[in-house]
Amino acid sequence: MEKKQQLYSGKAKSVYLTDDADKLILVYRNDTSAFDGEKLEQLDRKGKVNNKFNGFIMQYLEHHGVKTHFEQCLSDQMSLVKKLEMIPVECVVRNIAAGSLCRRLGVQEGIELVPPTFEFFLKNDALHDPMINEYHILSFGWASKSEIDAMKDMTFRVNDILQKRFLDIDLLLVDFKLEFGRYHGELLLGDEFTPDGCRLWDVQTRKKMDKDRFRQGLGGVIEAYEEVAYRLGVDID
Ligand code: 5GP
Repeated sequence: MEKKQQLYSGKAKSVYLTDDADKLILVYRNDTSAFDGEKLEQLDRKGKVNNKFNGFIMQYLEHHGVKTHFEQCLSDQMSLVKKLEMIPVECVVRNIAAGSLCRRLGVQEGIELVPPTFEFFLKNDALHDPMINEYHILSFGWASKSEIDAMKDMTFRVNDILQKRFLDIDLLLVDFKLEFGRYHGELLLGDEFTPDGCRLWDVQTRKKMDKDRFRQGLGGVIEAYEEVAYRLGVDID
């Protein structure tokens, strides 16, 4: 499958059309951004690690009954996916308080959330991805009631599956963000699951093994991503 015209270029991935109107090629770049693109760096090996990491997780989820857009890794930094009509909302599940939840509610980082909590955000960089509720999604027609319910169900299912998988390798799945889209009338998990879009803490040391290392200037960003990939058994080379 060959890359054709570029359809879109995001902060970390570029999206290309292919010969097949139903398929896209994603190119994972080394670009790493935070704070809506204000902090931007090139990190060696990031595109490759994230592409392989995402492929592993998407296949693991498929194996556990979650339908995704992922087809196959084509090369170190390229994957083939189904072309979705994306729903412009981000679905976040949190098992432990961190990040924007702590800032918004003034709660301490590290508090365990029982049960896990769920939030919707609007995908809109210019507005800094504001938090929205289900009524906003319905009133503006971003998704139907059944799609909202399916996005919540699938996000919690992904949480159950991955929380266990990460705990097996001594990592706490603190929180993560998912995006969904429509494919011939069916709702599929789209975008990616990588350490760019989730928080993972080492169980023993509580060391941050995700993009917070970049956001907070802690260093060793890609080394941490590679450590998680190694523990999971992702074949990077
Ligand atoms: P927070 O709301 O605390 O900033 O983020 C919650 C979780 O969702 C974190 O794991 C974070 O990495 C992820 N997340 C939220 N917004 C984005 C986004 O725009 N891009 C990416 N890659 N991840 C996001």
